[in-house]
Order: sequence, then structure tokens, then C-alpha cells
Amino acid sequence: MPIYSERQQNIAEQISDNDVTISNWRDWRWQLKNSVEKVETFERLLGIELDPMERGKIELTLKKFPLSITPYYLSLIDVEDFRNDPVFLQSFPMPEELEIGKKDMSDPLAEDKDSPAPGITHRYPDRVLFHISNVCSMYCRHCTRKRKVGDVDSIPAKEQIEQGLDYIRKNPVVRDVLLSGGDPLMLSDDYLDWVLTELRKIEHVQIVRIGTRMPVVLPYRITEDLINMLKKHHPVWINTHFNHPRELTASSREALRLLADAGIPLGNQSVLLAGINDCQRIMKSLVHKLVENRVRPYYLYQCDLSEGLSHFRTPVGKGVEIMEGLIGHTSGFAVPTYVIDAPGGGGKIPLNPNYLISLSTNKVVLRNYEGVITTYQEPEKYESSFCDRKCDECHLQLKLEDAEEFRSTGIETLLADYDDTISLTPEGNDRFERRNDD
Ligand SMILES: *Cc1c(COP(=O)(O)O)cnc(C)c1O
Repeated sequence: MPIYSERQQNIAEQISDNDVTISNWRDWRWQLKNSVEKVETFERLLGIELDPMERGKIELTLKKFPLSITPYYLSLIDVEDFRNDPVFLQSFPMPEELEIGKKDMSDPLAEDKDSPAPGITHRYPDRVLFHISNVCSMYCRHCTRKRKVGDVDSIPAKEQIEQGLDYIRKNPVVRDVLLSGGDPLMLSDDYLDWVLTELRKIEHVQIVRIGTRMPVVLPYRITEDLINMLKKHHPVWINTHFNHPRELTASSREALRLLADAGIPLGNQSVLLAGINDCQRIMKSLVHKLVENRVRPYYLYQCDLSEGLSHFRTPVGKGVEIMEGLIGHTSGFAVPTYVIDAPGGGGKIPLNPNYLISLSTNKVVLRNYEGVITTYQEPEKYESSFCDRKCDECHLQLKLEDAEEFRSTGIETLLADYDDTISLTPEGNDRFERRNDD
């Protein structure tokens, strides 16, 4: 398993004055402690040089939107062509970030408005977003919560998290809790263990999800200890955030393997970013690599209207074009849902190419991914029932509890009235071997 590339070795040595071991590099706390926050360090570690004019403009950007990148993620940049490199573009500040468009907003998703308790965004009927960390292991330039980046670089106080937990306890409609931030995996294992334990005590909380970019930007955070802790709290789902196939390195594949082996269903949320992944070939390669590593592409986001992101935005048509190139052309489970998170807090709205061409009362006209136009005959008889919610009189099976599965064993089987077994025969019985099968 390659841990070091030459570049990684070189970066690690520069950081630690030659005194570096593989276990340093693979220690997530070492990575965080040595996160790169200055443009000069960025240039020095990669051996690149910007012209002074450009550096000046970038310093201005930094005053508003700070820089932070882990040595690991930095090491993935292709120095030969760094200006087009997807990792560079996602991590290095650009003067364009200061261009605020007329329709840009600081909180386009109205997350702060839809917040009935500290850290909670309750937008959908049955699930909440619970921000339990204000920090990230790196600052994505395309962050939708850019307004908060570097703000209060701290973990919210326990009392604040208690208030969020209290909200969830008091609202039995909440069956799904999405832990987000910041990055929840910036919390220590013990702290996260506490939050998960408290959530698990709440009977109406059926599932917990964690949104984290650690497998991408700091895969060493996925340790055996973390996995063993998470496993105690199943069902836990994890969504991560790969945007480009180059991000699936040996280290990040290993992190995904550990998570998947722990029985954690994995999903991926990508953002469509101009100059980074706004290309059918790149996206197809990304989704293929994801499913190869047991990650289901979940959402492809149209870039939000947050301030400072205008240079990353593509027209919506680009997203539809990419979906056109995926649907039908590759495995259904490799296709994410393309969504716009509606400005003003309307939630995610799915967008697809149109497949329905026309319809009459008995026929539907459709086209497939190849452009073949086809028809579907509607059923001749369909008794559309008037649903007045009088479920007691309905013929549909509305027993929604799990079907019971009985399995008796041994002599109990012979005694049971509900079982037709008349004899039990030892394996390899000679008499049975001699029998004709007809
Ligand atoms: C995205 C989001 C969710 C989760 O939505 P799903 O479609 O269930 O993944 C929940 N709350 C908020 C505020 C969100 O933005």
C-alpha cells in the first residue's frame, strides 16, 4: 500500500525538517497541526512561484476568506499544471472570490433563518440538519457556508449541542438527523460518541447521517478507533464530497474501504464546478470510481448563490447535459440526482432531462437515452379509488410492521402445528442415497 509519493515525502520533510516518519504523515492530528494557511508556505511546499501582483490580490482575498489545506490534500496537486488542477482550484484563494454578483447572497439557503434551535436547520418534515462543528480540516473555496469559514474556529460548547439535542428530543417528527458543520469528524471520537449516544437514546430517531469531507481531504481521520466507535451506533450513514476522480487516491480508497467494511452505507455529494468537473467525461469517471469503492453517487449540486462563488458557477444546462450523458449510459446506481438547492430555503429541487414527450388518456409517448421514441400503453382497467383515508375499509395491506419470520428448529419443528415436516434425517443417510429420485 503506497503511503508516500515522492511529493508527499518531500512535503513532509520540509514541514518537519527531515525528521518525519510515515506514522507522522498518517496521523490526522499531525496533518491538522501542519495545515497550510499562508500563501508563502503553499508556494514553498509545492515549489511554485506566483508573481507579486497576483500574490497581492490573493492576500486581499485571504482577509475575507481564509486559506487552509492539509499537507495530504496539498500533495495531490499536479505542480506541472497547477492552474488547471482540481485540487488547487478547490483550495487556493482566487481574487474572483471578491467579486460579489448582484444576486449573490451570504446565506442563500436561509439556513440561519430556518433555525428553531442553535445549530439546527429544520426545513423538511421528518429530518433536521444539526451543525455540531464550526471547523473543517480544509477550507473549500466553493463552500456554500463561506460566510462562516474561519469565523468562530471552535467546536460549539456542549450546552449549545445540548440545546440542539433537546429540540430533537421534543420533536417526535424527527426520524433522521444529519450531522453536519463544519465537519463533524473534526470532533474527537469521545465527543462524537457522546453526541451519537444521546441521539440513539431518542426513540423516534431512526437513522443518523454524517456529512464529512474527511475521506477526501484527510483520509487518515478514518481510524480503526473511529470505526469501532461509529459501529456501535448503527444505523449510521455517511455522505462524503468527492468532486474529481483524481481525489480517489490509495489513501482515500483505504478510508472508504474501512467505512464500507464497517457496514456504513456511503454516499457522495458533488458540486458542479466550472473549470473543475463541468465535463461529461470527468463526471462519468468520477461516478465509476465511486461505485468501485462502494460509494453511491447521491447528489450533484448546482453551485449555490453564495457570495464569492460566481467564478465556479455553470449554467444549469451544463448539469442537464451531464445527466443526459449518465442516465441510461451507465449503471443506474452510479447516477446521482442533480439538484438545485432553492434560494430562500425552498430545499433541494431535482432536475432531469425530459423523457416524457406527450400523453393522451390511454398512451404515453417517451424517448429513451438514445433518442428512440417509444410508447407505453396505459392499463385498460384501473379502478382509481377515492382515498378518503378510511384505511380500515381499504383492501391494501396496511399492516406496516415487519412481517414476522418464524423458524423453528429440531424436534420443535415436528411438534409444531404450523410446520409440515414429518421427519428429520441425518445428513449422508445411506438409505436415502439408494432411493430413486423419480
Ligand atoms: C439537504 C438537506 C437535508 C437532507 O436532505 P435529503 O434530501 O434527505 O438528503 C436536510 N435538511 C437540510 C436543511 C438540507 O439542506
